[in-house]
Amino acid sequence: MTKNVDSVQERVLREILSRNAETEYLKRFSLNGATDRETFKSRIPVVTYEDIQPEIQRIANGDKSPIFSVHPISEFLTSSGTSAGERKLMPTIHEELDRRQLLYSLLMPVMNLYVRGLDKGKGLYFLFVKAETKTPGGLLARPVLTSYYNSDHFKTRPYDPFNVYTSPNEAILCVDSFQSMYAQMLCGLIMRDEVLRVGAVFASGLLRAIHFLQNNWKQLAHDIATGTLNPKITDAPVRECMRKILKPNPELAQLVIMECYEENWECIIKRIWPRTKYLDVIVTGAMAQYIPTLEYYSGGLPMACTMYASSECYFGLNLNPMCKPSEVTYTIMPNMAYFEFLPHGSSTSCLVNLAEVEVGKEYELILTTYAGLCRYRVGDILRVTGFHNAAPQFRFIRRKNVLLSIESDKTDEAELQNAIENASLLLKEFNTSVVEYTSYADTKQIPGHYVIYWELLVKDSAIAPTDDVLNRCCLQMEESLNSVYRQSRVADNSIGPLEIRVVENGTFEELMDYAISRGASINQYKVPRCVSFTPIMELLNSRVVSKHFSPDLPHWTPERRR
Ligand code: AMP
Repeated sequence: MTKNVDSVQERVLREILSRNAETEYLKRFSLNGATDRETFKSRIPVVTYEDIQPEIQRIANGDKSPIFSVHPISEFLTSSGTSAGERKLMPTIHEELDRRQLLYSLLMPVMNLYVRGLDKGKGLYFLFVKAETKTPGGLLARPVLTSYYNSDHFKTRPYDPFNVYTSPNEAILCVDSFQSMYAQMLCGLIMRDEVLRVGAVFASGLLRAIHFLQNNWKQLAHDIATGTLNPKITDAPVRECMRKILKPNPELAQLVIMECYEENWECIIKRIWPRTKYLDVIVTGAMAQYIPTLEYYSGGLPMACTMYASSECYFGLNLNPMCKPSEVTYTIMPNMAYFEFLPHGSSTSCLVNLAEVEVGKEYELILTTYAGLCRYRVGDILRVTGFHNAAPQFRFIRRKNVLLSIESDKTDEAELQNAIENASLLLKEFNTSVVEYTSYADTKQIPGHYVIYWELLVKDSAIAPTDDVLNRCCLQMEESLNSVYRQSRVADNSIGPLEIRVVENGTFEELMDYAISRGASINQYKVPRCVSFTPIMELLNSRVVSKHFSPDLPHWTPERRR
């Protein structure tokens, strides 16, 4: 596959275009049954989600005609990328599950080249499903992993000694995030001697699990000691499967207590699961911020980033999974979809093929899928680092337009601006306005949270906004953020309360002076809307006059607002 990248890509495009020749979308652009690259590139436009949203909405409303795909749309996958505050809906077809499965099936054979003996124990993976909804037309809408874990591909997978998990399916498939985590952690502790690898999809998820252990070890140890299950676990399938797994084991309970009782949690993963050979978590992209914390808790275990995937398509895998996080590259598999690459900063007329990308250059990924997305901009920026055979390998650089991210949430500049505007309305009656702001994703504690620095103009100090008002401003900002953020706050508890730090007057002026002293042009200086550079953080933090936190949870339900 990696030797014949270009011919595989040509075949994939031919297959997609010939099977979908009669779709409304391809007919609209007069493709007239053509399946060659030149005609495709000259007639089909490069699009964003917003461009195809009217068609997506029609499918969501129940239109079953072949709009994007001649195969029926089996469900919508809800992306963590948002449009107008709601998760994007990605149409998918049943056979895409096979493609995802194919990529998963390659991960352990690759890992086996680097780490031996993984068939002699189990993987402790914290895997979760999220709430599902239905569109007005009756199609399911849920995240891609929720779809996969609920599929027969996962639920009735044949026994494979290299892929034995400590978590029972019942625990993974429990939609209550507390009960699911509790049962998975309990199983991980009970089977501690068998655990050879510890993981979650993203680094943030694994840290959440460690934090959960910090908060719940006493009850977990009690359950292990007595062989009884915490009454807070009420989900019947979970209770039933735990009944078979849980037996009184006072010795193990004592060990858990001894390790967790200590103030110092350094190396806790290796202490509790001493046979762990590596952590299996994605620490590339926005997740890189968690590397130091994971190193601390794991005592420097290697971190394997095995794959690069999205709701739209599973792209590829890391062929050298034990490399350092900073050296991770993903090899895009040419049979997953048809890929094109927009050189970063160029116009959409300059797209190149997968086999034509050049080492050292950065590109935006453009996708044409079997499910019917045509020349779709994913929004990821990748840099070519080399080749495996003829297949280019990419470093994930960043996602376009993401300012703040704690876990799967992605907040862009416009969303932050809008949230600030909404919150500052509460200051009006106090004759106060926000003159400058910037933000910071604070991930030092678990869960991480958004910090917003505000410089205020208080026009009448006799009626300056009170602490309570500024707390409510925090909540108002959260209410204005997108549904992925609010879901993480409310249902997953994976983001902590938003914080506003009010800074002294003149702080942002100092920030500008600092930037200019480092060579910024006065004419072109713009206040950074997100900061992380240590000297700037130190400056801001030294000027803080008060701190305020959201007093409540924002509103969130699985149903979409629109
Ligand atoms: P979603 O559509 O919610 O599944 O999110 C997919 C996005 O997550 C991708 O487009 C990337 O921006 C990001 N992502 C997925 N896998 C990785 C990875 N291995 N490293 C960095 N970012 C990733």
